[in-house]
Amino acid sequence: TLSFQNRRFYSDKVAKFTGQKDASGNFPVSIIEGDGIGPEISQAVKDIFAAAKAPVSWEPVDVTPMLIDGKTTIPPATIESIERNKVALKGPLATPIGKGHVSLNLTLRRTFNLFANLRPCRSVAGYKTPYDGVDTVLIRENTEGEYSGIEHVVVDGVVQSIKLITREASERVLRFAFQHATEIGRKKVRVVHKATIMKMSDGLFLKVANDVAKDFPHIEFDAELLDNTCLKMVTDPLPYNDKVLVMPNLYGDILSDMCAGLIGGLGLTPSGNIGDQCSIFEAVHGSAPDIAGQGKANPTALLLSSMMMLRHMGLTEYANRIEKAAFDTLAEGKALTGDLGGKASTTDYAQAIISRL
Ligand code: NAD
Repeated sequence: TLSFQNRRFYSDKVAKFTGQKDASGNFPVSIIEGDGIGPEISQAVKDIFAAAKAPVSWEPVDVTPMLIDGKTTIPPATIESIERNKVALKGPLATPIGKGHVSLNLTLRRTFNLFANLRPCRSVAGYKTPYDGVDTVLIRENTEGEYSGIEHVVVDGVVQSIKLITREASERVLRFAFQHATEIGRKKVRVVHKATIMKMSDGLFLKVANDVAKDFPHIEFDAELLDNTCLKMVTDPLPYNDKVLVMPNLYGDILSDMCAGLIGGLGLTPSGNIGDQCSIFEAVHGSAPDIAGQGKANPTALLLSSMMMLRHMGLTEYANRIEKAAFDTLAEGKALTGDLGGKASTTDYAQAIISRL
């Protein structure tokens, strides 16, 4: 049977931050440092925030999986912290492949009903790629679709993984996409789908998109097949700079890594998991076990995620200042990490940003 127990019903407002300052005048933010390179890149972000005197106090939380009533979950104290602070910054969490506990990333998204995954991708000056000036905005449905976690062995040698699409979750993320386009001044929303094959599931997503579009007459709405989008984006991504793309879960996961490839890789791409009550900001990349503990990781993706977080919290001036220092450091090119062709360590790069604040 399908469980909808963690779902809150759809709300038509754009998620607004409602966290409160503590006695010292700072906003408490829950921080999950994560696995692999997580602690190194989290430290870089904390050092940069401290140097910029950003009014944030970090509340470290633990997400070591626990079994409660036979289900894998995260510690109740962590849930309580994120619910209280309304916002968290998260490092990458390693997920066992093909067996073991369910993905903690999925558990977090479901627990807090983080229905939209916002993944902007912008070229940085100082790192040469085939295209300059890429500026894509991709929104991924974040709670169901191919990630519903409903899988069965039918008989030996035959398995089923179910793609679940509901009108409720589709409407929520589509409405968020139109609202976000309005907020950031983009006049076009494009649904990316495969309703030619997934006639019922993507068909429903597309139908809901057509319905929601009627409530946003100032936004131009169209749809494109996923394979076509991939071909066109790698051929010339710039025509996507005026659009917000929105799509079911798996397509967004894959297409956003492709977008990352267009601008210089996973070290540069941030994201926000947005819910009505809480939001969790994290880099698109994973725990990078191949370079963990060596001081080689690029903290830009987590830093830009934390800039999205500051803007979400209304701390826009801090975000602008730190972001400028980071982009100027990248443009100068003297303190680039290895993934961008440089020799700087994670801390060298963080210090270079700090020296520009
Ligand atoms: P990955 O993103 O961790 O790494 C892919 C490649 O990119 C590696 O070569 C890595 O060194 C490089 N890379 C990634 N981030 C970098 C950075 N900040 N600086 C420099 N190089 C960087 O993907 P993977 O190796 O497929 O996954 C490793 C683990 O991370 C898996 O357990 C996976 O499930 C998990 N994962 C977690 C998240 C998340 O927490 N949101 C996302 C993706 C993958």
